[in-house]
Amino acid sequence: MSANTVSGLWKKLAGKLSRSNKGSHSPTIIPRDDHGVSRSMISDSALKVIHRLNQSGHEAYLVGGGVRDILLGGDPKDFDVATDATPEQVRGLFRNSRIIGRRFRIVHVRFGREVIEVTTFRGSHDAPTSQSSPKGKHSARNEAGMLLRDNVYGSIDEDAMRRDLSINALYYSSRDFAIYDFVGGIDDLERRLIRVIGDPETRYREDPVRMLRVVRFAAKLDFDIETATEAPLRELAPLLGDIAAARMFDEVLKLFMGGRALQTYALMQRYGLFAPLFPATQRLLDEECPETQELIHQGLANTDARIAAGKPVTPAFLYAVLLWPVVKKLHKEVLEDGVPPIPALHQAAERCLHKQQQRIAIPKRFSLPMRDIWELQLRFERQSGKRASQLVEHRYFRAGYDFLLLREQSGEVSEQLSQWWQAFYEAQPTTRSDMQKHTNDAAERERNRRPRRRRRGPRKPS
Ligand code: ATP
Ligand code: MG
Repeated sequence: MSANTVSGLWKKLAGKLSRSNKGSHSPTIIPRDDHGVSRSMISDSALKVIHRLNQSGHEAYLVGGGVRDILLGGDPKDFDVATDATPEQVRGLFRNSRIIGRRFRIVHVRFGREVIEVTTFRGSHDAPTSQSSPKGKHSARNEAGMLLRDNVYGSIDEDAMRRDLSINALYYSSRDFAIYDFVGGIDDLERRLIRVIGDPETRYREDPVRMLRVVRFAAKLDFDIETATEAPLRELAPLLGDIAAARMFDEVLKLFMGGRALQTYALMQRYGLFAPLFPATQRLLDEECPETQELIHQGLANTDARIAAGKPVTPAFLYAVLLWPVVKKLHKEVLEDGVPPIPALHQAAERCLHKQQQRIAIPKRFSLPMRDIWELQLRFERQSGKRASQLVEHRYFRAGYDFLLLREQSGEVSEQLSQWWQAFYEAQPTTRSDMQKHTNDAAERERNRRPRRRRRGPRKPS
């Protein structure tokens, strides 16, 4: 979606709105003729969910990214529905649904590959709830004010106050086709502003992930961050260290795999939000090693470019980039203990991942290829013998080679090394064996000339 696109209907709306209601509990209502959201822009599945809930006597609205992105003239990634039906009631209405989450229970309603996320209106944690069951079961905080459970239900206006950003709290009704704005979200969309609902510090303490959401949407939409929303970020950033590692894995993917990784990263650095997620990488960045900075920049730019070109991106590659500087440093330390290069790399990878997993739980299906990508970097330095042909057959050769290119772009290895592998990869089998022979001869000459010195650096074809 182009962040600068403002749909024609949206323009019509701009300036027409009453701004007096911001923060109050009665909504600004934007009637169907004054906004650009129409049913044709909403997925049939989301409309089906809303319709069935309505038919069963429940309130149900489209909310969140779906409304926000349509108003900005874009294509929503997914559709979220908010309702007064409890998760159990929603579950009872849709055969293809399941309740997920403990901290924040929601229902996933599945239609083929599409999943509609249905959330029950959240209520205030301070006021008595409309539910008869004891609140402690539904609401819990730790000493720092972080919400450990957020399953207190309420009404639509309370729900709006519990959402993260004003632009994410717009409700579209398919009964009267109007948009309901309880928190000045329309104004903020118009002014291109990221604003946290309520007191930012309290809201960040309740859920520190909201700080990541602030920078993610600022980067994605190219919006400014409102002053009060921005103010506590740097000071509260360390609270991110308390977030469950499994939740963090998903959040990091959203940050770096949404097509605006470079801008997101720049904002994360500006507000100190990267350090609690990748402490070891940050320590190396703080040493102002230009190679480390360059590698991360190139890696994120490369991810953005691939997404823009519609090419696949894998979390394994992304995490391999973000942690490589750490692995490299640890590898050097293990080598100094006299361990041979490949086992030393395994040890370094193990140590790095063990520490990192405390912050971000990287599933095995990604951490295994990461180790392979790293190991390939070492193997690329040997071009002789049968090894090169075997390497080309490696299932992660392509990812490893792309990684080698990044290292070259960041000035870590010479251009000749990647050029050799590129040529070798593209060459016919006969040419390959010629290349190997050529390299073998060069290596032999090298050995004869300096018999005692063991080369560690990349062997380049002569
Ligand atoms: P997108 O799906 O395009 O990334 P989104 O705004 O729809 O953006 P979701 O993660 O799908 O984001 O969340 C749906 C909605 O739930 C949000 O728009 C917001 O209203 C609310 N929400 C999500 N996360 C939080 C949070 N941590 N605190 C408060 N509200 C949240
Ligand atoms: Mg969404």
